[in-house]
Amino acid sequence: MQRLAERQGVQPVVAAMVPRLFRLVHRRQDTADTFTIQLKPTDGRPLGFIPGQFTMLSAFGVGEVPISFSGAAHLGGLLQHTVRDVGAVTHALARASVGELLGLRGPYGTGWDVADGRDGDVVFVAGGIGLAPLRPAVLEVLSHRQRYGRVVVLYGTRSPPDLLFADELKRWEGQGVEVLVTVDHGTPSWTGRVGRVADLIARAGFDPGSTLALVCGPEIMTRFTAAALVERGVHPDRVRVYLERNMRCGVGLCGHCQYRELFVCVDGPVLPYARVADLLGVREL
Ligand SMILES: Cc1cc2nc3c(=O)[nH]c(=O)nc-3n(C[C@H](O)[C@H](O)[C@H](O)COP(=O)(O)OP(=O)(O)OC[C@H]3O[C@@H](n4cnc5c(N)ncnc54)[C@H](O)[C@@H]3O)c2cc1C
Repeated sequence: MQRLAERQGVQPVVAAMVPRLFRLVHRRQDTADTFTIQLKPTDGRPLGFIPGQFTMLSAFGVGEVPISFSGAAHLGGLLQHTVRDVGAVTHALARASVGELLGLRGPYGTGWDVADGRDGDVVFVAGGIGLAPLRPAVLEVLSHRQRYGRVVVLYGTRSPPDLLFADELKRWEGQGVEVLVTVDHGTPSWTGRVGRVADLIARAGFDPGSTLALVCGPEIMTRFTAAALVERGVHPDRVRVYLERNMRCGVGLCGHCQYRELFVCVDGPVLPYARVADLLGVREL
């Protein structure tokens, strides 16, 4: 398979490794460990992207990590990322204050291509922070709501305080979206569902024969959910999954994210389930 280095020559690849400077202009704490930041390019050049793509985001002096876009693809020059604080770099991003400069490379990777779902039903299935990479695709569908049939969002998270974008989920319901939420562990005040997100597939109202399904979450959740969608009758080519693998360069050079013939950073992260079903569950070294 021809890699980016061969396709573009060495110079453009070197250039692609140099981050652009973005200023942190807004920060919101979503849950105890998850926050959303808005970034503005310091050179005034807007950065376009398609829903599902990601950037390599750097906290200077600490490191660089892949983070998906979580905002609408047309936010007037501002980029939005929703990040869970899990380790060194995401912790440094969590500590960054409004006004600070961050580095950003990209956009990279494949998109959800929700336009393929036109005239049919679209089902989004998110686990935990997986709602963030799906959000730009949901917003794109809602901006052309009349072009789609039934739109369903199935969302599962650890516990009620971990629910992301809770107000927005309510708003989406008002825009003709069937939203079903479940948690792994309830709290005394929680009156909603408790259980796995994959179990919601049997309850949701969609026509499997005309459905495009987009799945994003922890890999074990993705595996069970994609299998449940196929069992319900969605064609494996019409189920798209988001593979999150450890990656370093983001441009198909270093091989950290390679699985079989796939470099997840350039061939993914969005891939048809039919193509990667056997890779889900393969442990990273
Ligand atoms: C294409 C892509 C898009 C992503 N989008 C988002 C996003 O929108 N929001 C978000 O919060 N996170 C996202 N991630 C995961 C994020 O990149 C990792 O959480 C981050 O790299 C951890 O770095 P760290 O230095 O903070 O933690 P580390 O100290 O490196 O690791 C902390 C823990 O996170 C695990 N981890 C490290 N890198 C990854 C990785 N790439 N994927 C999964 N687990 C990892 C480690 O195994 C370890 O258990 C995405 C990952 C990929 C590949």
